[in-house]
Amino acid sequence: MGEQLCYTDAYLRSVDATVVSVDAGSGSAGPLVVLDTTQFYPGGGGQPPDRGTLLRTDDGRTWIVASARKAGGEIVHELELDAGAEPPAVGERVTAEVDWARRHALMRTHTALHTLCGVVWRDYGALVTGGNMEPGAGRMDFEFERMSGELVDEIEAKVNTELALARDVRVDVLPRAVAFEIPDLIRTKVNLLPPGIEQIRTIEIVGLDLQADGGTHVANTSEVGGIRVTGYESKGRINKRIRIELTEPAATA
Ligand SMILES: [Zn+2]
Repeated sequence: MGEQLCYTDAYLRSVDATVVSVDAGSGSAGPLVVLDTTQFYPGGGGQPPDRGTLLRTDDGRTWIVASARKAGGEIVHELELDAGAEPPAVGERVTAEVDWARRHALMRTHTALHTLCGVVWRDYGALVTGGNMEPGAGRMDFEFERMSGELVDEIEAKVNTELALARDVRVDVLPRAVAFEIPDLIRTKVNLLPPGIEQIRTIEIVGLDLQADGGTHVANTSEVGGIRVTGYESKGRINKRIRIELTEPAATA
């Protein structure tokens, strides 16, 4: 099994790796490459997979990684390849680099959405039922019968207050039995996790929110900047959707 570094270090932009396997792909899918170590996020929990490049150490030849995903437990990199072009070969050394501007925007967006979740749970007791994001914008669905335009304005202000408090964001991995004793985790439906999963990864916005989560996050809420609620809608009597976007451009680093 290749090392999967995105879960432990969200700030890794580039790693040196060895190609472990190459599958030709089928249909419109490009070749599928597995590395012995990677920081690419394979998607999941509403966060889309990373894009980026592989650069061969020997000659600098570069391939575009159009997407990534989990397959058989491994993180697989899907290459975008011109007709007739060759993928890298097994055993070759490459530098894997994520599209950092995009990934960092996704990290900020993901942490913003957890902050939204935390505020809505803490102050209104509403459970989150789902969510999705793209770089810089996202949505969350809640069981939130009494949501209104006025409340949404209030929520936007509260989320921005929490972000400005510069709360640390911590990643932890807990044994299943321990995770199940944390009442806050129940609301993110940790109890729906398959019985085979023995370790549960959690994301804590210290002092605000704790969730079982597989995504990549910024290390402090101050790095998110601010958010704006761009819309809300009813998905039924009880289920409501809130859309947000980040109000500040990504910091150039
Ligand atoms: Zn999440």
